[in-house]
Amino acid sequence: MGDLDIDGAHTRHLTPMEMGLGPSRLHDRGRREQIAQAHRLIGPTIMGRLSHVQYVSGVDPVFAGLHGYEDIGDGRSYRTTAACYYPCHLSGPRDRRVTTIILPVAEPGWTGVRTVVHELGHALDEVTRFEHDAAAVTRYAETNRREAFAEAFTAWVWEGDHRPALDTLALFRSLVWP
Ligand SMILES: [Zn+2]
Repeated sequence: MGDLDIDGAHTRHLTPMEMGLGPSRLHDRGRREQIAQAHRLIGPTIMGRLSHVQYVSGVDPVFAGLHGYEDIGDGRSYRTTAACYYPCHLSGPRDRRVTTIILPVAEPGWTGVRTVVHELGHALDEVTRFEHDAAAVTRYAETNRREAFAEAFTAWVWEGDHRPALDTLALFRSLVWP
């Protein structure tokens, strides 16, 4: 699944929890705070479009039966790497398959916040029907169009308006001020 997204990473379990986002499964307190911080940075308007997204943290998703992918293809494993999974990637009853961000291992501070923002960028790409091709703003963004979108979104959330191309900026702004 080369078009699954991925990002840096490292692992642990499951627990129900709400971030105003529906029943997610999160154990570790640090991750909860990082997710809350990412939501604050993104703001309520765009987060309102992502209210279906669920999180699972601190778990090996293959072991937990969430999906069957393992080898990313670049030496990393989905068992230990953060990723945003669309419904078609997930195992289990169809009505329980919703876009899910899986964060297998803990990451320190702002590194973890940035990962959450990036993964939410993938969720936003899905919400906007994969219709917008963003220019690459980082080396990692050159991986493919999906990473380009997620990285442009992350750069915008993190650093403001000067990073993404103008058409991408226009898209993000239109989502905040429709
Ligand atoms: Zn990604």
